[in-house]
Amino acid sequence: MSPPASSEKVYQGIAASPGVAHGPVFLMVKKDLEVLRRDIPPDRREEEIARFERGLLETRRQISDIRAEIEEKLGEDEAGIFDAHLLVLEDRALIEDTIREVAETGCNIEFALKEVADRYIEAFSKINDAYIRERVTDIRDVTRRLLGNLLGSIETDINQIPDGCILVADDLAPSDTAKLSGKRILALATDLGSRTSHLVIMARTLNIPCVVGLHDFSRQVESTVPVLVDGFTGTVLLHPSERSLFRYGRIKIERAAIEKRFQAVKREATTTKDGVPLTIRLNVEGDESGRILSDSGAEGVGLFRTEWLFLKSRVFPTEEEQFQAYRRIVEGAAPFSVTIRTLDLGGDKIPHHSLFGVTEENPFMGIRAIRFCLQHTDIFKTQLRAILRASAFGKVQIMYPMISSCEELIAANAVLEECKAELRKRKLDFDANVRRGSMIEIPSAAVITDLLAEHCDFFSVGTNDLVQYMLAVDRVNDRVAHLYEPHSPAVMRALKFIFDASRREGLPVGVCGEIAGDPLFASLLFGMGATELSLGWGSIPEVKYLLRQMKMEDAQDLAGEVLKSRTAAEIKSKLVAFYTRTIGIRFPKLVTGEANGEA
Ligand code: PEP
Ligand code: MG
Repeated sequence: MSPPASSEKVYQGIAASPGVAHGPVFLMVKKDLEVLRRDIPPDRREEEIARFERGLLETRRQISDIRAEIEEKLGEDEAGIFDAHLLVLEDRALIEDTIREVAETGCNIEFALKEVADRYIEAFSKINDAYIRERVTDIRDVTRRLLGNLLGSIETDINQIPDGCILVADDLAPSDTAKLSGKRILALATDLGSRTSHLVIMARTLNIPCVVGLHDFSRQVESTVPVLVDGFTGTVLLHPSERSLFRYGRIKIERAAIEKRFQAVKREATTTKDGVPLTIRLNVEGDESGRILSDSGAEGVGLFRTEWLFLKSRVFPTEEEQFQAYRRIVEGAAPFSVTIRTLDLGGDKIPHHSLFGVTEENPFMGIRAIRFCLQHTDIFKTQLRAILRASAFGKVQIMYPMISSCEELIAANAVLEECKAELRKRKLDFDANVRRGSMIEIPSAAVITDLLAEHCDFFSVGTNDLVQYMLAVDRVNDRVAHLYEPHSPAVMRALKFIFDASRREGLPVGVCGEIAGDPLFASLLFGMGATELSLGWGSIPEVKYLLRQMKMEDAQDLAGEVLKSRTAAEIKSKLVAFYTRTIGIRFPKLVTGEANGEA
C-alpha cells in the first residue's frame, strides 16, 4: 500500500542515465561504519575483551591472505604495505589503550577502539611528516577492517543485493560497479558522483536509470522503502504519491513509444539522409560483451575498457585469462574490429587502494593509465601479449590511454615490440601489423596531435577526461559538477583542432567519451570532422535514428554555428534546436517536463 500523498519527499540530484524506475530501496552505505556506544556490565567486560582478541586474529588472518595474494601477483614491493598494516595490529599501545578504555569506562569494544584510534589519528595528523602521514592512513585502514569484523558488518558485497530493487549508496567503488552487470537492479541513486563517473558510465552501458549527486540522500532512507528514480531529470521521490506514480506511468508510456521508433532502426545502416555513411561503434566495459555486441547495431567495438576485468576480481588476471577474454570479444565482433584499450587504472579506477599501497593526494593527476603501465612493465607486457595473441583471431587495434607526450607513445610502442619478439620466440601467432592508437584526452596531447600522428595509426578522443583536464574540474566531484561543461566553447575549439590536425595527417579520429552517446552532440561531432563515434549500448538506437534523419551538410553548418558561439548555454540551445528540428521530437528532458505539465 502506498503511503498518503503528503509523505512524498522530493530530492534533486544530477540526471546521469535516462529512464524511470520505481521500487524498494536496497541501501548500501560504505563510508563510516556507525559505531554506537553501549554500556557493558562489569561481569561481561572480560568477554568483550576476548571478542577483541578474536577480531584481531581474524583481521590478521585476512591481511596476511591479501598480502600473500599480492606478493604472488605483483611482487614483494607491492605487498610491503600489508606489513605496515600487520604492524598496526601488533601495536601494543593501541591494543592496550583500547582494552583499558573498556575496563575503565565500561563501553563496548568497538566504541573503545574507535575512540583510541581517532585519538592516535588526530595526534599523528598534526605532525607534518610524510612517513607519519602514511601511518595515519594505515591506522585508519586497519581500524576500519577490524571494526568491520567486530561489528560483523564488513562491507556489503554487491553480489548479495536482491534483484528488482533500487540501489541507494553514498558512493560505489569501481570494483562494485564492475559487478553490476550480473544484477537486475532497477535504478541507482547515489550521494556522490557526476555524469562521467564510472558508476554512471556503467549504468548507461547497462541501461539502468541513474541519479547521482544527491548529497545525503542515503542517510534519509532505509532498505525496503519505496522510491521513484527519474533519470531524465535527476529527481528522486521518496514514498512517491499515487499522483506521482500515475504521472510517471504516463511518462514511461510516452518514452516507450518514442523508444520503439529508435529501436526500429537499430540494425539499419548508419547513413545520413544525404547518403553519407557514418561509423558507430560500441563502448564495452568488461566482459559482458558477446551478448550485447551481436544485438547492438554497432560496427564492432571502439573502446574496450579492460580495467573492468581487473576491477572485478581485484587481482591481475594472467596472460592466458586475459587472452581468453579478449579472444571472446574479438570473435564476437567479427567481421568488425575491436579496439582494446590498455589498462587505465588509477584516477577513480584504482581497484582498491590496497592493491598498490599508494594513496595519492590527487589521483587523476597521478600514476594513472599509461603512466602506471610504463612503471609496471610486467603487468603491461602481460596485457599486451594477451591482446596480441587475440589479434590472431580477428581484427584488433591497441589503444593507449592518457598519452600526454610523444615520449610516452614511443615508450609504449617499444614495449609492444618487445612483446611481439617474445611471442615470436614462443612461436605464437599474432597480427604483426596490429594498429596502434592514442587516446587524446589530455590537453597536451590535443595540442600535439600532429606530432603524435607519426607514432600511431589512429586517434580516439576521450572527452570525459579532456573536459576534466581542460576545465580543471574533477569529473567525479559532485561539488563542481555544475562546472563540468562539455558544451564549453573551449572544448569545442579543442575538438575542432584535434579533428583538423588528424585529417591533415591522414589519420582517422573517433570520439569515445560519453558525449559520443549524447544525442545532442552526435551530429555535431560528425559535422566537425570525427570519423567515428564509439558509444554505450543503450545510446545507439537514438543516436542512429538521429544520424539517419540528418543531412551531413546540416551537421557541418551546425558545427560552424557552434564554433562561433561564445557560451556553453548558447551552444547547448543550438544543439537542442538541431535535435528537435531534425527528428521532430522534443529533446527528452522536455518530453518529461511536458508530461509533468511543465512544458
Ligand atoms: C574518456 O576519458 O573520455 C574515456 C573514454 O575514458 P574513461 O572514461 O575510461 O576515462
Ligand atoms: Mg579517459
